[in-house]
Amino acid sequence: MEKRKKMDLLVKNARIYTMHRDILDRGSVAVLGDRIEMIESTDLSEVYDADQVIDADGMILFPGFIDTHIHFFQSFLKGLGADHRLIEWLNLSALPYGTKMTPRQHELAARLASMEALKSGCTTICEFFYTNQDPELAYACIDGMRSTGIRSVFIRTFQDTGEDYGMPSVFIEPASKAMREVESLKKRYQEDDMFSIWTGPDVTWSTTKEGYQTMLEYCLSENVRYSMHLKETEVDNEMCFRHYGKDIVDLLEEIGFLTDKMLAVHCVNLTENDIRRFAEHGVSVSHNPAPNLYLGSGIPPIPECLHAGVNTALGTDGAASNNSTDMLETMKLAALIQKGIHRDASVITADQVIRMATCGGARAIGMENLVGTLEVGKKADMVLFDPKHLKSFPDHDAEATVVYASSEENIDTTIVNGKIVYHKGNFPGGLSEKELIREAAAEVRKMLE
Ligand SMILES: [Zn+2]
Repeated sequence: MEKRKKMDLLVKNARIYTMHRDILDRGSVAVLGDRIEMIESTDLSEVYDADQVIDADGMILFPGFIDTHIHFFQSFLKGLGADHRLIEWLNLSALPYGTKMTPRQHELAARLASMEALKSGCTTICEFFYTNQDPELAYACIDGMRSTGIRSVFIRTFQDTGEDYGMPSVFIEPASKAMREVESLKKRYQEDDMFSIWTGPDVTWSTTKEGYQTMLEYCLSENVRYSMHLKETEVDNEMCFRHYGKDIVDLLEEIGFLTDKMLAVHCVNLTENDIRRFAEHGVSVSHNPAPNLYLGSGIPPIPECLHAGVNTALGTDGAASNNSTDMLETMKLAALIQKGIHRDASVITADQVIRMATCGGARAIGMENLVGTLEVGKKADMVLFDPKHLKSFPDHDAEATVVYASSEENIDTTIVNGKIVYHKGNFPGGLSEKELIREAAAEVRKMLE
């Protein structure tokens, strides 16, 4: 008898949303190593043997979700500074605790958030790291994140001014020094498809024009991508007008900062003109609906961005302003707030929101050739969604179910780079949710002291 080709993993009998071609009502995905070897609307277990076979009868398979913006350390701060606007909240929560947390606390917070993300079907996460003091903090954060098996981007940002808005002086450093730190992180860690390092200015009110220019020069010469908080509140522009007499997007365009390497986060106050220029220059937007609502910042013009052809992705943001790391909840908010504010239920659809969470996210991080859709040859980053729960039953329209009627309990299995990293409440890599919470609780107590 002819010897059958051996796969590492096979998911069969699933309804498959490839986000690339037609939906397969009942199909299989075969995984060899870290890649998708075959997708067919048949039972591939009749063709291949596999080390692991998941019978996904009644379940739906999607590309893994991509969280394009988070601050891990804030997983220790949920609820602190609640019911305050951005600048007050920052000064009650993120900034003071951010200056005090130890490497061990950063490591545990990164693990907490990454595991929570995996549990909500997220397979790639982008850490926007801004508590820059001792490099050990960044190392600990990276180690905590990578220990969970999630695909990740570490964005080592910088602040070169901003004391008058409350930026702790310990975070402030010249941009040239920050770029040397980015360079030394790149030397320390092997970058590959599972892990990459970017940089970026933290926020408008903590960056000088010279800072943007120094960073941009570095990024363009070394081919490094960058991200920044942009137009989250009116303060961004107020500071820019005070120092430079102009709108922040005008300033950025003038110095050549608007490029397809840029991921702009929040963008609550984008104008029509800004949107047009983002589309022109290929800037991606990371939409983080939960913190925009929680901090009373406002609602960004996302349908307008989509309509203009701006690539738009989703993020949870730090858990001190969310207060969780849940991509399912993020998708629901992203859809509902636009329908409400536009008084038009058709202004954004479930399909568009899932695309923001998958292929939009992949393009925003420059990995559209590797992840974001289920296609032969792409990395096997997938999430298996089980609609057989009270909240999501009956499942007449899978996309509507995922966006409007889901929770973590629906996530049956999360697969990253061909490996099962979360399955039916467990983390097969040896991580324990209970154990982590016990360890983290002790460190949270120490942090509060
Ligand atoms: Zn943020």
